[in-house]
Amino acid sequence: MVNIEFNNENIEKCRCPCCSVQAVSKCAYEKLDKLQKMSGNPGPDDVPGMYCVSGKTECDDFNPEGECQCPKCEVWKEYNLGEGEPAGYFCQNGKAK
Ligand code: SF4
Ligand code: SF4
Repeated sequence: MVNIEFNNENIEKCRCPCCSVQAVSKCAYEKLDKLQKMSGNPGPDDVPGMYCVSGKTECDDFNPEGECQCPKCEVWKEYNLGEGEPAGYFCQNGKAK
């Protein structure tokens, strides 16, 4: 079981906001917009990213044909997520185990 911290430091490292899989998503865009205006600490439901921790997205307008950016992420490297399951695309396949 991977225990990745859901904190602001990791949220900033997360590459999901610049991933083509969710670039087409109005739902993710709206979350990002809300997050940028938010004060205080966001929770997993507020962040359009960190799917390795929060699991599958509740948005239904992602494009899974795009290229997952997780292998380029510092969180992926730090927690050796390449050796675990699922192999990226956490927004589609669920949280890292
Ligand atoms: S989990 Fe991977 S595929 Fe999904 S939005 Fe993040 S970088 Fe893109
Ligand atoms: S591994 Fe993927 S889902 Fe997890 S923080 Fe990095 S880009 Fe985001």
